[in-house]
Amino acid sequence: MTRNLVQAAYIVSAVLFVLSLAGLSKHEKAKEGNAFGVTGMVIALAATIWLAASQSANALLTLLFVVVAMAVGGSIGLWRARVVEMTQMPELVAMLHSFVGLAAVLVGFNSYLEGGDAGTGVTIHLVEVFLGVFIGAVTFTGSIVAFLKLSARIRSSPLMLPARHWLNLAALVVSAGLLAWFVASHSVVPLLLMTVVALAFGWHLVASIGGGDMPVVVSMLNSYSGWAAAAAGFMLGNDLLIVTGALVGSSGAILSYIMCKAMNRSFVSVIAGGFGQEVSLGEDKDYGEHRETNAADVAELLRDASSVVITPGYGMAVAQAQYPVAELTSQLRKKGVDVRFGIHPVAGRLPGHMNVLLAEAKVPYDIVLEMDEINGDLPGTDVVLVIGANDTVNPSAAEDPGSPIAGMPVLEVWKARNVVVFKRSMATGYAGVQNPLFFKENSQMLFGDAKERVEDIIKAL
Ligand code: NDP
Repeated sequence: MTRNLVQAAYIVSAVLFVLSLAGLSKHEKAKEGNAFGVTGMVIALAATIWLAASQSANALLTLLFVVVAMAVGGSIGLWRARVVEMTQMPELVAMLHSFVGLAAVLVGFNSYLEGGDAGTGVTIHLVEVFLGVFIGAVTFTGSIVAFLKLSARIRSSPLMLPARHWLNLAALVVSAGLLAWFVASHSVVPLLLMTVVALAFGWHLVASIGGGDMPVVVSMLNSYSGWAAAAAGFMLGNDLLIVTGALVGSSGAILSYIMCKAMNRSFVSVIAGGFGQEVSLGEDKDYGEHRETNAADVAELLRDASSVVITPGYGMAVAQAQYPVAELTSQLRKKGVDVRFGIHPVAGRLPGHMNVLLAEAKVPYDIVLEMDEINGDLPGTDVVLVIGANDTVNPSAAEDPGSPIAGMPVLEVWKARNVVVFKRSMATGYAGVQNPLFFKENSQMLFGDAKERVEDIIKAL
């Protein structure tokens, strides 16, 4: 009876999780999506705790353990979520993935020690345990390395061991051999040996990936953590964990694919690693002179414009300029200027970074467009304000086949009538590539902190 009710609750939760993901994929429905997710999780937790208590000899003691563990974990989680800066989000996510990986390893060993059903069920159970521990161990050490790199505790350049691809292949082949041994012998030895191999494999896999590809790696580890959870679901016979793990696993994989496409990198080359080493680009090309402007002139330009597109980037996040940008937008809209935003899929340091900042500053969702939606309109736009963006608006991606970012889709801002670039210096962006946009005839540089400069423009208006 209890089991049936719990199963029913799990189905409701699974549906809510699917609705949550559907909601989160649209700005307007993101809050609703979050509410679905929270409700699904509350139902899932309540059902699981109830099941655990009803099956244990001492229900009160079980409940006490669960409550204490949740209080400790929940308080740490709440504290971290409150203090984390938006720019530290990727490293926090990486750290959280390592916990999922570790949990899958522990569940795997526990499940092995408890044993499964007799007969053919045993073999299936052993394979589940083996795969769960393998994915969990890779996710665990891989995520730790990602965390260390992203938080600059270790160098972010790729570790280039000789024959590194062969090392990876060897780890996979050895693990496959150990699986056969494990299934045949039921002994803990191959399981332990594989755990060591998988831990080293996860470490090496991420260590050999360079700084620029780390966000893709975080999203890939997100996907692995989902598969690790799904594997744990198989071991525990918990359908909801299987569904949830598969949702996380596949959405992480889709996100990795989207990010690779937006950075013009192939998924396989990201995983194989070795990209992002510190190369000197030998920039000796003469791009000509850049023109400088000031806030008063930009205000004048905006007053005369009928269409304006704002393309924010990492610099807007650093300057926390989203609030004055929102204020400027609303002032211009009141004057009848058509203001819209163009968001590059990898603008900032994590997917959706810009959307979150603009939503926080209450910029209406319907004027925040994606790169593909706005690119066609840029040639007819009077003024583009590039606020703290650089690589994502670099014309060499489209025009210079020899550029390190060649082929990366970019916001084609240089096609607009006027472009104003907000940044503090002539320094390069994340990819370390010079940007010919700054030297184009229709471009002007507005130097200084983006927040201060936008505030100056608002004053001048
Ligand atoms: P970039 O890193 O290319 O450029 C940011 C610009 O902001 C810099 O040129 C910097 O110039 C300027 N800036 C910094 N601080 C300020 C400030 N306080 N005021 C004004 N300007 C400032 O950012 P983009 O968003 O254009 O591109 C993102 C890059 O990050 C891409 O290369 C992308 O591949 C990469 N990336 C993206 C990830 C994602 O998932 N979104 C993940 C990891 C990397 P200056 O120093 O002169 O002020």
